[in-house]
Amino acid sequence: MSEEKSHKVLFVGLLLVTCALFFLVAVLLWWIPYVGLANIHRALPALLAVFFGILLLLAVGGIFSIVLTLIFKKDLLLSKRLRGAVIKVIFPVLILVGKLFGISKEKIQHAFVEVNNDIVMAQAGHIRPERLLLLMPHCLQNYECTVKITGNVDNCKRCGQCKIKDLVEMAETYGVNLSVATGGTIARRIVVEKKPRIIIAVACERDLTSGIQDSYPVPVYGIFNIRPHGPCFNTQVDLTKVEKAMRHFLQGGA
Ligand code: SF4
Repeated sequence: MSEEKSHKVLFVGLLLVTCALFFLVAVLLWWIPYVGLANIHRALPALLAVFFGILLLLAVGGIFSIVLTLIFKKDLLLSKRLRGAVIKVIFPVLILVGKLFGISKEKIQHAFVEVNNDIVMAQAGHIRPERLLLLMPHCLQNYECTVKITGNVDNCKRCGQCKIKDLVEMAETYGVNLSVATGGTIARRIVVEKKPRIIIAVACERDLTSGIQDSYPVPVYGIFNIRPHGPCFNTQVDLTKVEKAMRHFLQGGA
């Protein structure tokens, strides 16, 4: 099984475990006051059972919808709302459940970004180049380069000592926006200024996760940076992944 697939299996597995835990809690919440409720009104235990049953059906339906989106890579059943639910509700719960099973936060973040990517890909319509933003981390720039590219990437002298040169040329070729951010605050400011319809962001697991959450409802397609020298230092990016994602969105998901 590929690494990407195993991350998605982990995500779906955690979702199922969460659902089972939720079911147990719901049964307990229903069963404990059962006798007391029946004393108030005979129909109350049944009503409560229906209420928890509906909650459970919604949870199972949500998981089913996520799995279908991951398998068919198409916008199926409610997946527009689903992305919001995954970002705001499901992911924080999965971090907690993952902790119970000793699964690292980084692993769950990795899985979250990949699941988010599939949903973003599935929902993408045709995006005009000027509404697509490539958002890069500052650590892609060669550490010894003295040119200030945050604020204006066109300051890059295109010496080829880092991938910023290739990204500037790629952005020119496709007519998309390219920005470099030194951190979350600057990244948020860039998003507010450029008002993109979609963002392709390169960063580590932690920054991509917070970026996806902070930018919601603007969809973010995340690409993990490569860290041959450790985090935040002369990092690299697979340019073919950036170009492939960009083409997908510019061609309307074709
Ligand atoms: S390609 Fe641009 S950013 Fe990278 S080292 Fe050269 S001048 Fe600096």
